[in-house]
Amino acid sequence: MDSPHGIHTIDTGFVRPQFDAAYLVVERGRGAFIDCGTNHSVLRLLEALAGAGLAPADVDWLILTHVHLDHAGGAGELLARLPQAKLAVHPRGARHMIDPSQLWAGASAVYGEATMEHTYGRLRPVPAGRVVEAADGHVIDLAGRPLRCLDTPGHARHHLSVHDARAKVCFTGDTFGLSYRELDTAKGPFVLPTTSPVQFDPVALHASIDRLAALEPEAVYPTHYGRVEPVQRLAGDLHEQIDAMVAFAHAAASKRDRHAWLSDALTDYYGARAAAHGWSGGRKRLKELLGMDIELNTQGLEVWLDREAHSDGNAQAQNAVR
Ligand SMILES: [Zn+2]
Repeated sequence: MDSPHGIHTIDTGFVRPQFDAAYLVVERGRGAFIDCGTNHSVLRLLEALAGAGLAPADVDWLILTHVHLDHAGGAGELLARLPQAKLAVHPRGARHMIDPSQLWAGASAVYGEATMEHTYGRLRPVPAGRVVEAADGHVIDLAGRPLRCLDTPGHARHHLSVHDARAKVCFTGDTFGLSYRELDTAKGPFVLPTTSPVQFDPVALHASIDRLAALEPEAVYPTHYGRVEPVQRLAGDLHEQIDAMVAFAHAAASKRDRHAWLSDALTDYYGARAAAHGWSGGRKRLKELLGMDIELNTQGLEVWLDREAHSDGNAQAQNAVR
């Protein structure tokens, strides 16, 4: 298995192959998982652990980039099988791992309880004594290898990224966008921002991308999906698209069917960018690959538009969970 600097990419099995990753970092026989997928991913993670020659008791950390359920849904179930591991999570996310009822209720209100059970499984609480709040600059010591947590809002306010100076890489959750291998071309990886509900903040997202790029990592590891480079080109692509998506959202505000108009505009835009990137898969295939993300990006941009329009940002921000 290819594992530069002891970094293993694990397919969590969520949605489709090569869609949702968890990472295992191994240093001197000790392990740290970064993100974990859902309850249904736990066996895959334990198999990958065994494949790397580690036992469950050799894992010291599960680090969550943020508490969206495709990254964090399986945390309680996984930790129940890792006797030595602690959970590192953004201070804004910690209470939702200890008591996941609010996360569950919020997502169930959108998707329905039956779909939630099927897609994620019941969320298992994490004992408070195992939770470490990783504020900006917090350094996790993995057998002497420092993993530095950076507060990187913009996709979500409970988002951290992990800088691994030893490997010269960053684990970026959803802050540094999405990059699916099916859209790779001779020009390299294709990347797009994710603005899923309900905390998209373009100013913060631009700043977080700049902060990560300024570390000059050789590569980044977004959760969706796997190692990508070159980082500076990808950062430029993300900045351009965030501005364009915000402009589309503003244009959509006056349309009769705002949601449909914005969704179509984003589909056309990503299609044109993919074509310019040398990808020849066509609109139908693009929708297969990006349809779910286009829907979530549309919803998230609409939530942001409404928040801007009401300019009652403080109350909204205090209530926001995800
Ligand atoms: Zn997310």
